[in-house]
Amino acid sequence: MATVREAMRWLANLPGTAVHAASSLYRTAPWEASGPDFINAVVALDTQLTAPDLLACLHALEARAGRERPYLNAPRTLDLDLLLYGTARIDSASLTVPHPRMWQRAFVLAPLAEVAPDLVTVEALQVVAGQGVERMGEATGS
Ligand code: AMP
Repeated sequence: MATVREAMRWLANLPGTAVHAASSLYRTAPWEASGPDFINAVVALDTQLTAPDLLACLHALEARAGRERPYLNAPRTLDLDLLLYGTARIDSASLTVPHPRMWQRAFVLAPLAEVAPDLVTVEALQVVAGQGVERMGEATGS
């Protein structure tokens, strides 16, 4: 939880970037993996960074949080995904936007609905309603 809150502060300090909105924190059981629960949140940024530069910054922040990638789907200390970049559609070797799996995951759609309610329909939330996701509270604070 502290890592997620710290990551939000790091995002706010990226060059040419400001946090427009931040969701509550959500707790979920691991998706297609084992281990402890995950803490999830969505942050809306205003940024002058290009999408590839923003992704590079996200990877740098993951590394700063101590993340290593010894094998696919290894347990991670921090996982930062780029869900959307305005209305852009990007399909490069290293970046797909909108994030290809975001509409299948309650732990994405529930917090996204907080920060961008116009983007997440009731129908979209119903598709993932069976997935356990627990709202924990506001992301701000200690
Ligand atoms: P992950 O293990 O979830 O951090 O993602 C692994 C790879 O997914 C990264 O090396 C990225 O290059 C790639 N990727 C493609 N599209 C995205 C996206 N929208 N957000 C984050 N990573 C992405």
